[in-house]
Amino acid sequence: MLGVSKTSSLGPNQERWKRVRHVVLDMDGTIYLGGRLFAETLPFLATLEELGISWDFLTNNNSKSRADYVESLGLMGIVVKAEQVVISTDACVATLRGDFPEVRKIFVLGTSGMKKDLEDAGFEVVAEDGCDGVVVGYDTSLNYHHLCRAAYWIGQGKPYLATHPDLVCPTEMETILPDCGAICTLLEAATGRKPDRVSGKPNPAILETILDRRGLDAGEVMMVGDRIYTDMRMAREAGVLGVLTLTGEATREEFIDPASTPDLIINDLGELEALLRSSRSTPL
Ligand SMILES: [Mg+2]
Repeated sequence: MLGVSKTSSLGPNQERWKRVRHVVLDMDGTIYLGGRLFAETLPFLATLEELGISWDFLTNNNSKSRADYVESLGLMGIVVKAEQVVISTDACVATLRGDFPEVRKIFVLGTSGMKKDLEDAGFEVVAEDGCDGVVVGYDTSLNYHHLCRAAYWIGQGKPYLATHPDLVCPTEMETILPDCGAICTLLEAATGRKPDRVSGKPNPAILETILDRRGLDAGEVMMVGDRIYTDMRMAREAGVLGVLTLTGEATREEFIDPASTPDLIINDLGELEALLRSSRSTPL
């Protein structure tokens, strides 16, 4: 693997590790796979609590709403506040507010959960009438009529935003799940337009939103995820520690380009738990 050796200690990052006050965790492939929670996850979160380290969950998958995630995590035994669940929709909201303040009425290709999160953020989600802009997410309820309407408004030159770039959603089932990026590719073929903005990982803006909200600087934050080209690339670009777990998509043998190199590779969260404990017990 390029530029990274098998790591069993914190090495030269020791001082940075001592400064970590907040951990941002990817979900699928990091704390669970499919619907199965990893055995290491609950002890890891308990240790964060004990060490006084806060955490958020961060996902590009906006086929579920924030409330859906709070509920499904709760069923797995993870008690989480709504504000600890950060979804690509949140990054899109920040982009709308910052770069497209005139957009209030939006036409959405997304699930009812995603629409609810946009409405909770103060936007009016329109069904058929005129809109100020179009937002595309991971629409597992996609239908042809909605696709045609989205294409029409995009063709009319309205601001057009994608919540995240993923072409497919990972699955262990014998199927392929076309995601937001694939829907945007279809719309590009039909309209000749790419999205004006693409939020979500690996765009570091979503991580910066978390830093702003919590009043943290990049040196106090660690990102843990299983995808090199999203989780690790974003960590690198935002200047936070990047920890790659091998419980999901990435393998040790995978080629890593220098823009996405993790600071540490772990086999699972149990290994990270032990390293965090040791970093706290070593004197400065
Ligand atoms: Mg993942």
